[in-house]
Amino acid sequence: MKRPKTTKRYCPYCKKKTEQKVKEPSKGKASSMKRGSKVRMKLRGLWRGIGNQGKYSRMKNQAKKKRKTTKKTNLMFTCTVCKKSKYQKKGKRTSKIVIE
Ligand SMILES: [Zn+2]
Repeated sequence: MKRPKTTKRYCPYCKKKTEQKVKEPSKGKASSMKRGSKVRMKLRGLWRGIGNQGKYSRMKNQAKKKRKTTKKTNLMFTCTVCKKSKYQKKGKRTSKIVIE
């Protein structure tokens, strides 16, 4: 999905339509020690050996698969008048956003 760099949108701080810059915020990195993460499982001694490992047996096969091909877009709009930013509430599903 292509998106222009600036759009005219309603700014709740200025209480009128203003020119706003579009930006895709960086996703950041998830913690490697999260519950159910591979790192944590390995430290606990799970996910190794032979035989049935319960739910972790299934995760071995699932780890490689990428199930969903699209994600909801997460965009940030910065008002050029008051320079305050706001997130988009409902994004459309796309595989890729190109801001030009
Ligand atoms: Zn504003």
